[in-house]
Amino acid sequence: MAESLIPVLQLDNIHKSYGTGSAVEVEVLHGISLQLQRGEFAALIGPSGSGKSTLLNLIGLLDRPSQGQLLIDGEATGRLDDSALTRLRGRRIGFVFQHHHLIPAFTALENVMMPLLVERGRPDDEMRERATMLLEQVGLSPQRNNKANQMSGGQQQRVAIARALTMRPSLVLADEPTGNLDTKSADSVFALMREVSASDQTTFLIVTHDARLAARCDRIIELVDGSIVSDTQAPKFSGI
Ligand code: ADP
Ligand code: MG
Repeated sequence: MAESLIPVLQLDNIHKSYGTGSAVEVEVLHGISLQLQRGEFAALIGPSGSGKSTLLNLIGLLDRPSQGQLLIDGEATGRLDDSALTRLRGRRIGFVFQHHHLIPAFTALENVMMPLLVERGRPDDEMRERATMLLEQVGLSPQRNNKANQMSGGQQQRVAIARALTMRPSLVLADEPTGNLDTKSADSVFALMREVSASDQTTFLIVTHDARLAARCDRIIELVDGSIVSDTQAPKFSGI
């Protein structure tokens, strides 16, 4: 099979319980099956408490399912030990959170270099060039030497998006990435993610409460009480 036909993400009947082995075990995800293809730009919506963050944590290999299989780029993750999961996460998955988690005293450039710096241990020209290019892509070349804590919320979220892309991930996971932004900044951050997804064929899965933003995705996956209740493709994807 051609590599491009292997889903970036495949979930087969994923269950997740908290408090396993205790008297208060609660299952919060009840058999989630889902595939995301290369370049897809998908929204994950659902009421508060429906399991969106839990699902994102599993997909991001930050936690393990209680049952079921999770494959990233065709690679089964169930039998991987923690250090193998960490490596896979570092190379294949980028994260954008509601709170950007930038290092406040570091410059935009240093923050974007950080994932490569962690891997290589010391700065080099290649990572400086990669970070410079990414900051240009997110429209922040002039601000690249500004400290993160001197930037606006929208600019910080752009830096976070650039940082999520440093390792050329297959999949970017975003949990309420525009939740802290005013409408105008939210729109432009969202447009930026779309642009990046289209130009690099990076797959995005974006948790959002904002129906207006979800409507701008290729696909809307709706979670209620730990189950997928709808999964709708925008017309543009329906023929594939
Ligand atoms: P959402 O992101 O859609 O608001 P969550 O994934 O945060 O939903 O939560 C889903 C359910 O799992 C909720 O009932 C929540 O209380 C519960 N939950 C989330 N994290 C934990 C945890 N670490 N331990 C126990 N229960 C949890
Ligand atoms: Mg949540």
